[in-house]
Amino acid sequence: MTQPRAIRTLGLVHIYRSEGHDVAALSGVDLSVDAGEVIGLLGPSGSGKSTLLALLGGLFRPSAGKIFVGDHELSALTPAQLDAFQARETSLMLQGAGRNLVPYLTVRENVEFAAAEARRLGAEVIGVDRGLELVGATDFADVPLRQLSQGQLQMAALAVAMAPAPGVLLADEPTSALDRVARERIVEALLRVNREQGTTVVVVTHDPEVAARLPRTVTIRDGRIGGEGRSGQEYAVVTADGFVPLPAHIREELPPGTLLRIEPSGEGYLLVPEVKGEGGQE
Ligand code: ADP
Ligand code: MG
Repeated sequence: MTQPRAIRTLGLVHIYRSEGHDVAALSGVDLSVDAGEVIGLLGPSGSGKSTLLALLGGLFRPSAGKIFVGDHELSALTPAQLDAFQARETSLMLQGAGRNLVPYLTVRENVEFAAAEARRLGAEVIGVDRGLELVGATDFADVPLRQLSQGQLQMAALAVAMAPAPGVLLADEPTSALDRVARERIVEALLRVNREQGTTVVVVTHDPEVAARLPRTVTIRDGRIGGEGRSGQEYAVVTADGFVPLPAHIREELPPGTLLRIEPSGEGYLLVPEVKGEGGQE
């Protein structure tokens, strides 16, 4: 089994260049994920979550900044090394279960196919039965895909992603379009993959119920890290250039230009908004 890998990004910038105009999808993301950690990536549609996930998976290269996964700095890899990295170290579950599956095969055949391909590329694979069992897909392993529910298709996609025994699992919206029961099963399966295989798991979700089940969440907003949640507590994160983005609901209460008085308090600081009419006189 591949060792779980830590992930670190430094000043990650990604710009999609198209005719006429450029879109800055990521504008300086500094993210650290420990080996064997599970984190959720949250954020509104268009905030850059899928771009970040694809970059972590080595699908394409960032416009600027660095990505470290385990011992590798991705921009330093040759195309051949990048292929090997993708095959052996990380698995990316694309959004939409179908994009990860061969439609005319059963679940088991899909996993066998993925395992054979992974083995060919030098990965240490998980046994097919073990992979099916790990994600809870054993019961419908021999059913053709067209007879499966959306939730079962996601389980199948997860089994396929786990076939190369990756050190990092990247899952893009694996619970979207699922009912509550199916959603819960997927979350359970992701947590189990982490618990039993040790795999580092990064899961993109916009579902607050899914996010609440994850030990750590990072919110992406306008291509930047907008905050973190850990064990139900909300945190702001200081960026590499020293800015502290406030969570959206607090931003609404504190319009641009609001003065925050910095007050030493215990081991840290309190930021106290200056109320209009008060202060400024001294
Ligand atoms: P999310 O997954 O959070 O919805 P994305 O990473 O898909 O966000 O997109 C971030 C931004 O980049 C959006 O403004 C989106 O329109 C843009 N974008 C995404 N993919 C492309 C692409 N292939 N070409 C041009 N713009 C893109
Ligand atoms: Mg997306």
